[in-house]
Amino acid sequence: EKRQSDKAIALEAQYGAHNYHPLPVVLSRGEGVYVWDVDGQKYYDFLSAYSAVNQGHCHPKIIGALTEQAQKLTLTSRAFYNDRLGEYEKYLCEFFGYDKVLPMNTGAEAVETAIKLGRKWGYEKKGIPDGRAKVIVCLNNFHGRTITIISASNDPVATEHFGPFTPGIVPIPYNDLEALEAAMGPDVAAFLVEPIQGEAGVNVPDADYLQKAHAICKEHNVLLMADEVQTGIARTGRLLASCGNCDCPEKNCSGTPDVKPDVLILGKAISGGVLPVSAVLANDPVMEVIRPGNHGSTFGGNPLACAVATAALEVVAEERLAEKADALGRLFREKMQEIIDDTDLVRLVRGKGLLNAIVIDDSEDSSTAWEICLALKENGLLAKPTHGNIIRFAPPLVMTEEELLDCLSIIRKTLLEYQQ
Ligand code: PMP
Repeated sequence: EKRQSDKAIALEAQYGAHNYHPLPVVLSRGEGVYVWDVDGQKYYDFLSAYSAVNQGHCHPKIIGALTEQAQKLTLTSRAFYNDRLGEYEKYLCEFFGYDKVLPMNTGAEAVETAIKLGRKWGYEKKGIPDGRAKVIVCLNNFHGRTITIISASNDPVATEHFGPFTPGIVPIPYNDLEALEAAMGPDVAAFLVEPIQGEAGVNVPDADYLQKAHAICKEHNVLLMADEVQTGIARTGRLLASCGNCDCPEKNCSGTPDVKPDVLILGKAISGGVLPVSAVLANDPVMEVIRPGNHGSTFGGNPLACAVATAALEVVAEERLAEKADALGRLFREKMQEIIDDTDLVRLVRGKGLLNAIVIDDSEDSSTAWEICLALKENGLLAKPTHGNIIRFAPPLVMTEEELLDCLSIIRKTLLEYQQ
């Protein structure tokens, strides 16, 4: 009996605009890798709010920082300074190895900020005539939901009838260096790319894709802007997915500039999913084109966000979450492959660190991924299909090996039950 859940879902359906298609589960509590619904049912969270809750739900250190700061000062706007801001910005710049940071709130807002930055840089530093700057993007990207960002999308559900769109966007296939080379030109200011495409179904490009793409960008004096909103903050087994395969799970690759994006876009897990916090980082020669009054946000860099995000990043370092995600991810894919070999439903598993997906076999119905997610929910694990017949698995990185193995046995059991 799910009376409370049913009531909450009905209420939402009556008053909430239809902007999502959620799994029918109503959560009211979370702790670490677990969440509970309003009827008291306990689940493993295997999505982490699309990779925002990397540090686990209600991490005591982050919540401690939140409550402490909330009693002192929450918002000044940027009309004034606040005592946390400079400290936070220094911490962030040192953590990721950049000169400057522009603090924002949501992922989409940070991507918009990066596009503005790229265009103005193109005008001032590359001499692109005013109003002509182009940004190259990849097909099947997901960068958010604002007009300019959906102007870069080829997903009909996200774009249809929302026009007119923002001009100056050049889409090319993902993981295609020849297409990137061919799209280059004097008016191109930036290449905006996800190091792994998350929403598109966890598309992992060739290991040297980003590095080679960056070399092409440099050759044409174009900024490489990495959208690490989903892949960043230890999710893929490195602090940043753009670190590639280097041996520094805790620290950014500031020593190897070939894989260091010119513009780094972060969101989601930068606050451990506690508050909307995002950031755009770049070095001075790029960031200096943003001058007082050019850009801003009432909530960007608020003291509450500064306190929370600092604590959330400290957790990433202290608990060595990148290293954990790397080891657990390898174990997950190995065990998942065994499950795939023992069942007929799934074609493959792919991913990096703890950002993984299974692709349902082509012979299956298009609703199979959704139905499997419903069945996983009944067995105590919450996951969600991405585009097509693909299920993304992205648990909090604080998961133990024992818990991960328990989750894998739930997945095995669910797939075996489903195929009968
Ligand atoms: N960029 C990427 C790569 C994302 O995955 C997302 C969210 N799924 C966004 C941007 C947008 O972030 P937000 O929902 O916070 O606006």
